[in-house]
Amino acid sequence: MTGHIFGRSTRTSPPVAVAGDGCYLIDADGKRYLDGSGGAAVSCLGHSNQRLRQALHAQLDRLAYAHTGFFTSEPAEELADRLIAKAPKGLERVYLVSGGSEAVEAAIKLARQYFVEIGQSQRHRVIARRQSYHGNTLGALAAGGNEWRRVQFGPLLVETSHIAPCYEYRDRQTGESLEAYGQRVADELETELQRLGPETVMAFICEPVVGATSGAVPAVPGYLRRIREICDRHGVLLIFDEVMCGMGRTGHLFACDEDGVAPDMLTIAKGLGAGYQPIGALLVSGAIYDAIAQGSGFFQHGHTYMGHPMAAAAANAVLSEIEDRDLLAAVRQQGDLLDRSLRERLGQHPHVGDIRGRGLFRGVELVEDRETKRPFDPSLRLHARIKALAFEAGLICYPMGGTIDGRLGDHVLLAPPYIISDAEIAELVDKLAGAIDGAIAGAQA
Ligand code: PLP
Repeated sequence: MTGHIFGRSTRTSPPVAVAGDGCYLIDADGKRYLDGSGGAAVSCLGHSNQRLRQALHAQLDRLAYAHTGFFTSEPAEELADRLIAKAPKGLERVYLVSGGSEAVEAAIKLARQYFVEIGQSQRHRVIARRQSYHGNTLGALAAGGNEWRRVQFGPLLVETSHIAPCYEYRDRQTGESLEAYGQRVADELETELQRLGPETVMAFICEPVVGATSGAVPAVPGYLRRIREICDRHGVLLIFDEVMCGMGRTGHLFACDEDGVAPDMLTIAKGLGAGYQPIGALLVSGAIYDAIAQGSGFFQHGHTYMGHPMAAAAANAVLSEIEDRDLLAAVRQQGDLLDRSLRERLGQHPHVGDIRGRGLFRGVELVEDRETKRPFDPSLRLHARIKALAFEAGLICYPMGGTIDGRLGDHVLLAPPYIISDAEIAELVDKLAGAIDGAIAGAQA
């Protein structure tokens, strides 16, 4: 290998992954890594899944690609039908793309086109939340709530403002009930709408369970319902970004099912292709679709690989695996076990402030001081130390560092495959605990 490829870091050269085996990845030296985060919450079925391999071979033998400017395809049609059959109420159409950022980008552009076509072209703003991530393309980046990701690319294309996340571990006041907290932070949307002028806002976007940027932080009871009410009152579209938390990750096919709230648009990716193919989807309400259909009849958008038959065939096989193996139940059961095991092992740890999440989507937040919840000094880069030590020990997990106002501490996101066994959960927790202890000892040395 000559080293001409470049990825995120120009300073590191990672090991070469050569094979996958269930919950493990194997590198060129034969070292095995337990995939405790499914990469970035992608590999929900683990690696080398038999049904996926067969489905992809069969599709390749039939049809690899047909441009959507000319054709639709059987796997794409089947996938759209299957997703809509299970989708939250009101979502009736599917726009297939190749990943999460593309899905969010399409949602933002569709929101804008929708309002232009119904004669409300003054609606151009987006409201999102701090400590959120919606992708790296310029529109999705504008929506994302990590200033450090955006700062060097401004001015961004979509005017976005950010309200508080729903992050009760850090923000709930003493004596405040979960419900009261949820209403309070949801009401920030109302305040922001009044500040901007509600008639200028097209959409509010959020993740029902925040993934990478905060480490599996679920909405508290009632929060999303209040958000829905506020959006409805002002004619603002509600977009749920379930790129990370969707496709069964929380124990429900769509995370918002658990909250009983349906959006106007919903994005999925990652687990949809489970890493076997790059695919994302935007699910759209009948009302939005109909407005475009009765207007220009054309969504002014598109990508060469959208609706790719191979990617759709993979997603259909993923859905079949989830259904036939009752994997949503497995996620709930193994998620409970993971949660219990984390609490047993780390619940009393002097530097573990919070353990949270839903299903097989869990987060562990680290603090220097449990009482005050003071995070570690960001310059210690505790998250990077944990990642490195875990990796050395043969565990893939997804740590992230404090990012905003020093309020958000280091955390580790866990999102293992839905097929993870009891023994593998024990191994995960053991290796994670070792990496956390080693990293803290190293940082304090
Ligand atoms: N939205 C959310 C919530 C994500 O977590 C991510 C990726 O981590 C994205 C969007 C972007 O997806 P992709 O990396 O597939 O473009």
